[in-house]
Amino acid sequence: MSNSRYSEDWQAIATAVKEQARWRCAKCDRQCLRPDDDITGLTKSERTKITLTVHHHNRMPEDNRAENLIALCTTCHLACHTRQQSNIPPGQLSFEF
Ligand SMILES: [Zn+2]
Ligand SMILES: [Zn+2]
Repeated sequence: MSNSRYSEDWQAIATAVKEQARWRCAKCDRQCLRPDDDITGLTKSERTKITLTVHHHNRMPEDNRAENLIALCTTCHLACHTRQQSNIPPGQLSFEF
């Protein structure tokens, strides 16, 4: 597996998008975890549910223009990729975190 389609500064870009969204999902408005949030007491699945991810509108991971990026919680993000044709299998979504 290779994540070479993601640019090297993807982590920084993704964090900027999440910060701009104030760590809320653009679709369901769920408040997600910030990096400095206390996650003690949360199960792994609880944590996953409120983890904010960044989705590429056009499904091109190399296209990091602001208008192509959207902050989504894991649930909405998976729904995005299940409902529509995608060139990124859900199993590879972790690369977008
Ligand atoms: Zn959501
Ligand atoms: Zn996506």
